[in-house]
Amino acid sequence: MTQTDRLLPVNEAIDRLEAQIRSDRQDGALVDPLIVGIHTGGVWVADALHRALGCSEPLGRLNITFYRDDFNTLGLHPQVSPSDLSVDVDGRDIILVDDVLFTGRTVRAAMNELFDYGRPRRIALAVLYQRDGRELPICADWAGQELNLGPDEQIHVDGPDPMTARLVSSKES
Ligand code: 5GP
Ligand code: MG
Repeated sequence: MTQTDRLLPVNEAIDRLEAQIRSDRQDGALVDPLIVGIHTGGVWVADALHRALGCSEPLGRLNITFYRDDFNTLGLHPQVSPSDLSVDVDGRDIILVDDVLFTGRTVRAAMNELFDYGRPRRIALAVLYQRDGRELPICADWAGQELNLGPDEQIHVDGPDPMTARLVSSKES
């Protein structure tokens, strides 16, 4: 089996997320959830989920560049690209969406920003791929696939058209 065979295709990962979220919704665990994508990779995934679940309220978009606690060490340059949350998050159930969960720092930053807008009742996390390597006590409520990757491996995810994912190894380049 090649490494690529281990990775679930994006559409199947989205189908799995949809099924898991629908089931939890039926159980009453989520009340009228608001879907919020983390810029950039999380936004098209959130959009696909938003359509699959038939949510009526607009999709929220969070830009967390300024909130990452390690953007200096990563050499990222903060960009002025404001978040787009037109719906009041106070007291709401929120499904936060990203493409990949790794250390957890992006999600921590996204939650910081969400709380600037109000106090949600519940925040749940949906990711296409949950890889190992957490540095914070954060895990996904729903993951399309969980993977253990080597230190040189990364998941290359593209979307929305076409939606593709493959494993890349920095050793190969
Ligand atoms: P974390 O903050 O949890 O370390 O990393 C998650 C963020 O970095 C996500 O927003 C995701 O876009 C990006 N990321 C981390 N690891 C990977 C990976 O292996 N592949 C892709 N495509 N993105 C990743
Ligand atoms: Mg990202």
